[in-house]
Amino acid sequence: MSSDSEGSITEPRRKRSKFNKSQHIKEIEKSARQRGEEFVTSKGNLIEARVTGPNCDCRKKCMINLTIEEKNSITNAVYSGRSKNERDTYLLGLIDRFDVHRHRALSSESKQNTSSFKYHAIKNASRVEVCRKAFMSLHSISNKVIQRLNRLRETNQSPVDMRGKHKNRGNTLDSEIICKIHDHILSFPTKEAHYTSTTVIYLEACLTVKKCILISSTITQA
Ligand SMILES: [Zn+2]
Repeated sequence: MSSDSEGSITEPRRKRSKFNKSQHIKEIEKSARQRGEEFVTSKGNLIEARVTGPNCDCRKKCMINLTIEEKNSITNAVYSGRSKNERDTYLLGLIDRFDVHRHRALSSESKQNTSSFKYHAIKNASRVEVCRKAFMSLHSISNKVIQRLNRLRETNQSPVDMRGKHKNRGNTLDSEIICKIHDHILSFPTKEAHYTSTTVIYLEACLTVKKCILISSTITQA
């Protein structure tokens, strides 16, 4: 049915669609995460939907005067499809930092706080002060997130999304090795694909592993 040249063109296309599928799953996960919707990760972990947490038990009863709609609108404002950095920036705008001038007489070894924080939520387009627990519940965030945001507030830093940027990856190859692999692939005869708007170069269909080894050994011997 199809000629050799047509067969060789379809090969890279198949590979591209496979890559797009995993990218597509990642995009769905990312969108669900940003919208605070329930989803199952590719590793099979259930991530629950972001909803308002339990009421605070402070003296002011910060959450008692809020209607369900107001609570939902506070949570939805955080998970409205914003990226992690945008979420952090939004939440940072609701935290005020103050210097602590007077300390209680504690032992010299104990670490004393130099900052105190005030937390807010947006109600009818204006900031309303709430306690720390209410802030966590209303914005559906953990204590860990508040600690990270407070550190950023203290050091006046902008949020930087560090997810996926660590170097502790067992399967990652050194960039030098990747360059060598790339150069090695380029040493084989290539063909240019027709019927494409962009330049697509692919390895010839007649190239087998046996032929690759033969070519490689000729190059090394030369
Ligand atoms: Zn409270």
